[in-house]
Amino acid sequence: MQSPERLLRRTLRSFAPYRRGTTVDEVRRRYGIEHPVKLSQNENPLGSSPRALAALHGISALSDYFEDDHLTLKSRLAERYGLTNEHVVLGHGSNELVQLAFTAFVDPGDEIVMALPTFSLFKKDATIFGARAIEVPLRDGVHDLEAMGRAAGERTKLVFVCDPNNPTGTRVEPAALAAFAGALPPGVLLVIDQAYREFMDAGGSEGVDILKTRPETLVLRTSSKIYGLAAARFGYGYSSPQVVAWMDSVRLPFNVARPATVAVLAAFDDDDFIARSIANNETGKAYFARELDRLGVHYYPTAANFVALAVPIGADAAYEALLERGIIVRSGDGLGLPGYLRVSIGTPDENAAFIAAFEALLAKWRA
Ligand SMILES: *Cc1c(COP(=O)(O)O)cnc(C)c1O
Repeated sequence: MQSPERLLRRTLRSFAPYRRGTTVDEVRRRYGIEHPVKLSQNENPLGSSPRALAALHGISALSDYFEDDHLTLKSRLAERYGLTNEHVVLGHGSNELVQLAFTAFVDPGDEIVMALPTFSLFKKDATIFGARAIEVPLRDGVHDLEAMGRAAGERTKLVFVCDPNNPTGTRVEPAALAAFAGALPPGVLLVIDQAYREFMDAGGSEGVDILKTRPETLVLRTSSKIYGLAAARFGYGYSSPQVVAWMDSVRLPFNVARPATVAVLAAFDDDDFIARSIANNETGKAYFARELDRLGVHYYPTAANFVALAVPIGADAAYEALLERGIIVRSGDGLGLPGYLRVSIGTPDENAAFIAAFEALLAKWRA
């Protein structure tokens, strides 16, 4: 018999499947815990924008193929950033936009430069496309932009900066990012993933200034986190018209579904929900900082809606122990951050439930 792998593309034969987090249902079944606390996927703990949910009720039909240029949505976004419609590209989540960048720009044997650890999707796509991922370790938990600049070589096509970074929550300094962008050679697309940008204060970069001086820059944003619309699958990017046109040329027709555009357009106007989400996150961040300081636990200063904190035992073991107590977090072992847990900031009750369980376990782990 032939190898069962004959069918599979060569680049995928040693492919490690994505390690997804444990689901609420699994915890219910395994431990008989009725209401697990899920702090594992950086979702909005306040749910979805109420305006977005209400707008979905206004959909009377989904029978027609729609205008696929989404001009209303694009002009809303263009206006927000002082750009034009031609600078905006839309995707089925910002994850699709990462994939479109690979599809449009990366040949087999090309290289990408990214941090270690950072969002695992970048490396996954590199594997799928037969590219080599050069992973540059963080320095003191922050992107080492100097080393990343040195790592970019002849075959580099994409350079990823995740700001704030997942899974550490750390941010890069706007001036350092601008200098880094300015020094990158032409023919390299700088991809700035800002999935958590709205949780950062006004001082962070939005990448627009960088884009204006360096057209080969792509900034990625999403409705999944701040608007609580992860299930709607909507992300957007802004770049130069040429980069946008190239990415648009390889996307599927109708890649952004009508319900997503309806929900997102309404969410953009939901100032109350946005303000409440940011306020809840600020309260939660301060609470975590206070409690982790009190417990003498190391954590990375976070600009996002999650915190990476150190555990005195293996991260997988710590994760399992919390799971048994109905608290779902992410183990750093699966995220390139061994010795740490990544904990999403929840509601005050959820945060307190995490700290109570964690404090009890910590006493045991340290004994
Ligand atoms: C959550 C997250 C996203 C969002 O992806 P969507 O496809 O828009 O849901 C993107 N990048 C990073 C780093 C994330 O953590």
